Amino acid sequence: TTFDQLGMHPQIIEACVRMGFKKPTEIQRESIPHAIAGRDIIGLAQTGSGKTAAFAIPILQQLLQSPQPLFALILSPTRELAFQISQQFEALGAVIGVKCGVLVGGMDVMQQAMVLARKPHIIVGTPGRVMYHLENTKGFHLKALKFLVMDEADRLLSMDFEEEINKILKVIPKNRNTYLFSATMTSKVAKLQKASLVNPIKVQV
Ligand code: AMP
Repeated sequence: TTFDQLGMHPQIIEACVRMGFKKPTEIQRESIPHAIAGRDIIGLAQTGSGKTAAFAIPILQQLLQSPQPLFALILSPTRELAFQISQQFEALGAVIGVKCGVLVGGMDVMQQAMVLARKPHIIVGTPGRVMYHLENTKGFHLKALKFLVMDEADRLLSMDFEEEINKILKVIPKNRNTYLFSATMTSKVAKLQKASLVNPIKVQV
């Protein structure tokens, strides 16, 4: 299978080629066509499987077709993962001029507010700090959000981010797509899936 068999836009394929991706990984092969077709996705995949590009590619493809600020929110359990995700979005989205903002704990709130003022397309953050900005940063809201990704959902939940995630779910549109990625399927992940995804395609690698 090649990238152009997955229904990807030529500019996104070009970005993959520039990053040295020769062919899609299994999680990408299994999830990208469904995601492009508009389905919610639950992906059971480990780090190293190419899961980040599996959710970034369909989001960037939709962003390319209808660009707007605050298009997607990616929730990450850790700062390090949030920065890695943001770097992949910026690398894959360079050809379309994507702007990312990272909102993580332990870093300067005012600087993050300035990043938000520049109207990034993609927000990547840890749930507590994203909620902080929703409650405290003037003019920042997610009322037009098109995509929510919960990455490493098992870790998000084991780190007690459940309350913040539930608060975030209340202030984003119901009419959106949701991708949930997790290394393991726990009862907490299943509960979160029921609360946030609609008729998802399940992909396991
Ligand atoms: P991840 O599982 O998202 O943490 O990705 C692991 C690594 O694989 C990252 O460094 C990606 O840049 C890389 N990667 C993602 N997709 C592909 C692909 N189709 N071919 C080669 N490398 C890839």
